[in-house]
Amino acid sequence: MKKVSILIPAYNEEKSLSTLYEKLKDIMDFHDKYLWEILFINDGSRDKTLAIIESLRSKDSRINYLDLSRNFGKEVAMLAGFDYVTGDCVIIMDADLQHPPQLIPEMLEYWEMGYEDVYAKRKSRGKESALRKYLSLTFYKLLQKSTRVEVLQNVGDFRLLDRCCINVLTQMRESQRYTKGMFCWIGFKKKEILFNQEDRYAGNSSFNLCSLLDLAVEGITSFTVVPLRISTIIGLLVSFIAFLYMCFIMIKTLVFGESVQGFPTLMTVILFLGGIQLLSLGIIGEYIGRIFSETKNRPVYVARKYNETKLNLLCNEKM
Ligand code: UDP
Ligand code: MG
Repeated sequence: MKKVSILIPAYNEEKSLSTLYEKLKDIMDFHDKYLWEILFINDGSRDKTLAIIESLRSKDSRINYLDLSRNFGKEVAMLAGFDYVTGDCVIIMDADLQHPPQLIPEMLEYWEMGYEDVYAKRKSRGKESALRKYLSLTFYKLLQKSTRVEVLQNVGDFRLLDRCCINVLTQMRESQRYTKGMFCWIGFKKKEILFNQEDRYAGNSSFNLCSLLDLAVEGITSFTVVPLRISTIIGLLVSFIAFLYMCFIMIKTLVFGESVQGFPTLMTVILFLGGIQLLSLGIIGEYIGRIFSETKNRPVYVARKYNETKLNLLCNEKM
C-alpha cells in the first residue's frame, strides 16, 4: 500500500487545527486505499497549538508531530518536515485552511499518472491588500528576468511532491531558504492544477510587508548572482561616461584655458558615484552575509520532540 504524508507547518494556529483535522479526516477515511500520515511541525508556537496536536494524536495514530525548539520560520519548518515525513509522497499545506483539502484527491490522481510535482496555482489570492499583490507580481517578474529556471507565478507551497523530490530537497540544507525557488530548481515532471485561495480561517497572517520583502531578497540572492553582474555593468558604464567627460574637460582646458568653475558638476559627480559605490557594496554585502551564515554550518533547525520521543541534537537531522 502506498503511503501519503500531509505536511503542515503550524505557528500559532490553535483556532484552525481542529477544523483542518476534521476535513482531512474525511478525505483520509474516504481514500482508504492509501496509508496516511499527517505530520505537523510545531514551529515554536506560543499558543495552544502543541497541546491541540497532542490531543489529536491521542485520538488518531496517523498523526505525527515534530516540535521545534523555537520559531524558525515556515521555510525551515518545511525542511524539518521533509526530513521526518515517511510517505511515498508528501502534500504540503498551510494550517490556516487557505489551501482547500478537497484538492488532495485530484493531486493524488495526477501523482498516480506519474507526475512527480503537482502544484496548485491560485486563480484568486483571497483577501490581500492591493499593494501586497502588486509588489508580489513585480517581484516574480524581476526574479524571472534574472534566471533561466522557470519561476512559477501565483504558486504557493500547496503541492504534492513525490519521494524523489523530497530526497533531493532534504539534501539542500542552506539555512536561509527560499523553498519556492527550490521546487522550480529541482525540476521533475510537474503538473499544474488551479484553485481559489480561501481567506484565512482564523488569526492573522504571520507575514507582514517587511518579512515578505525579506523573503523577496532571499529569493533573488539565493537564486541568482545577476545583481552582482548589474553592478559591474553599471560600474563599466559610469567609467566609460567618466572617461568621455575627462577627454572633454582636457580638450576644453587646453583650448580655452583653466577656470575655477564647476563646483556643482563636481559635487553631482562625486555624490552620484558615491551612491553607486555604496549600492554595489550593499549588494556584495548581501551575498557575503549569506556566505557567512552558511559557513557557520549550524544545523538548520533544532527539534525538541518527535511525537513522544525527546530528541538530542545528534539525531536531529534526518532519522
Ligand atoms: N508558519 C510557520 N512558521 C512561521 C510562520 C508561518 O510554520 O514562522 C505557517 C503557518 O502556521 C501557516 C503557514 O506557515 O500554516 C502559512 O502562514 P501564513 O498563513 O501566516 O502566511 P500567508 O498565508 O499569509 O502567506
Ligand atoms: Mg495563510
